[in-house]
Amino acid sequence: MKPKRPYRSLQDCKQKYLKDWSYYVRNKRFTKNEFPCLKCHGYGKVHKDEDYDTIEGYKLAPWYTCPQCQGTSKIDIEEFRPRYEYYIKQWRENLAEWQKRQKILKKLTPAEQKFLALKV
Ligand SMILES: [Zn+2]
Repeated sequence: MKPKRPYRSLQDCKQKYLKDWSYYVRNKRFTKNEFPCLKCHGYGKVHKDEDYDTIEGYKLAPWYTCPQCQGTSKIDIEEFRPRYEYYIKQWRENLAEWQKRQKILKKLTPAEQKFLALKV
């Protein structure tokens, strides 16, 4: 299947991120240039690895002010951008790979394609 572009734009990426982490960002407003913090997912607080309990997990662990956003839940657009660009780069690579494969598959005869059980 042709790889689908994951986000139309940086703002689209932000909206989907906010939707995915809606539990953490509920009741929070972000202006156009404010983006949810990637470390705390917009919650403003984080757990520390050393508080992790093998049975209880983070259930009883204390919360700490997020060191990336200092508890504001927000980061600058430029801090968020690399995450978006990473996903787009991955998508471009997958698409290029898919296109390369399609090119090769088209050279095969229908019998060869059937043998490989592939659909072009
Ligand atoms: Zn944060």
